[in-house]
Amino acid sequence: MKRMTMINLMKASVKKIHSLSRASRCLPAEGGVRGFSSASGPRVCIVGGGPAGFYTAQQLLKARRDAVVDIYERLPVPFGLVRFGVAPDHPEVKNVINTFTQTAQHERCSFYGNVNVGKDVTIEELRQAYHAVVLSYGAEGNRSMKIPGEDLSGVFSAKDFVGWYNGLPNNKELCPDLNCETAVILGQGNVALDVARILLSPVDMLKETDITQNSLAVLAGSNVRRVLIVGRRGPLQIACTIKELREMVNLPNTRADMMPNDFEGIAEALKDLPRPRKRLTELMMKAVKEGRGDKVEKSWGFRFFRSPVEVLAGADGKRATGIRLALNKLEGSGEDTRAVPTGQLEDLECGLIISSIGYKSFPIDPTVPFDPRKAIVPNAMGRVQDTTGLYCSGWVKRGPTGVIATTMNDSFDTARVLIQDMEAGEVDLSVNKAGAQAITALLQTRGVRTVLFPQWEKINAEEEKRGKSLGKPREKLLDVDEMLKIAWS
Ligand code: FAD
Repeated sequence: MKRMTMINLMKASVKKIHSLSRASRCLPAEGGVRGFSSASGPRVCIVGGGPAGFYTAQQLLKARRDAVVDIYERLPVPFGLVRFGVAPDHPEVKNVINTFTQTAQHERCSFYGNVNVGKDVTIEELRQAYHAVVLSYGAEGNRSMKIPGEDLSGVFSAKDFVGWYNGLPNNKELCPDLNCETAVILGQGNVALDVARILLSPVDMLKETDITQNSLAVLAGSNVRRVLIVGRRGPLQIACTIKELREMVNLPNTRADMMPNDFEGIAEALKDLPRPRKRLTELMMKAVKEGRGDKVEKSWGFRFFRSPVEVLAGADGKRATGIRLALNKLEGSGEDTRAVPTGQLEDLECGLIISSIGYKSFPIDPTVPFDPRKAIVPNAMGRVQDTTGLYCSGWVKRGPTGVIATTMNDSFDTARVLIQDMEAGEVDLSVNKAGAQAITALLQTRGVRTVLFPQWEKINAEEEKRGKSLGKPREKLLDVDEMLKIAWS
């Protein structure tokens, strides 16, 4: 699915969901109890304030005029991967934040940041307090390569690397050493291309984005001149989309450095490809043809038919200095095409290795079913297996793939199923539930203080103020304590 096309589609499909002016709304007092907390409509709690959480809330509020929806988010700041994943040079993608903000400001919706569900409050406690609970907590882990040497210094997961340049508090200390000529990225999806682009973009192109000043300084001193993007299978199986590929092809002062042999037989296969893959492949082949020979400083290239087998250490045994790859051939056809090792190995010298082989969800509460193999909450159309009143949406529901528009559709589906269950009596609405009133009281006894949406807006204003003085849309706060201080000031 093309990221841009889907975003446009999404923009077109998202309607303004309420017309009340902000001033006329009944904003919650700290502690979050609204004047109408005794309303007898359904009370729904959403765990996670990323796209899935906000889209599920949006649909619930629209479909049931009596529903009250509360979103609990671990961090003091909302929007999940829109803030911490989407690349800083893709500001147009982040426009969805405007829609999420409208949802958060809806009179029947409340946002409670700084609440780590599973730790500060259990799912069982939420289920007691609400008619239904929707898990939308995303995929915060990463898949490991499971090869020797992956803990060496100089090896990072794309998740952490992306978190670092996007200001994720957990990754603020990452500070990768970019004092090497070649970087290898393992994986060929859009995240891999985001990372490659950030590594090779002229700093002047990045400095007006919301990339953090910290990472901008490190990137400004980078010696990385060559980025190789490695995949197990061939050009016809590559997972990136054309927008991201075009951005690589058009990067200033950078040429494509491919291996023409990898493209043998591809021209003949073109005519049978579906249109999006045909266009993607044609662009790659154009890059192969035109890429070499230009007098430019930097290069990037795909390396196909290769799987990582070991990260190679330098003389000190601590730092990565290369990667050993197994060469593959393909077996099978279509979607079932598999990479099979040929037995040949190849060593690539590099000082930076970033594995971009996927994100992964974790269980957050032992009472909730979890499928460790698929790393998702097992569900049927968003209904969590064997658990009445518990639902899921987004990456924790279907796995860590798909763009924001995919997450939107999937979240709308979960909301529809939940509404159906309410109407069919599967979700019992006959008893009043205390909702946020009960949960905020419980959190208070545990010394957990929430960040409400107007308090996030203070953080937002401070970030925008700091950004303005640097000529950027915002300068993100990196420290949770500082966020909290500003939120509660
Ligand atoms: P998330 O966005 O991860 O949101 C989950 C939220 O739950 C987070 O805010 C998290 O803090 C919170 N949470 C986690 N645990 C808890 C807990 N215990 N208690 C309370 N809250 C919790 N899509 C595009 O359309 N365009 C792009 O350019 C694009 N770029 C991307 C770049 C990267 C690097 C990545 C990884 C993804 C990108 N995507 C892009 C995909 C898009 O970000 C996802 O489709 C979408 O964010 C998934 O939404 P989600 O709500 O399921 O998960």
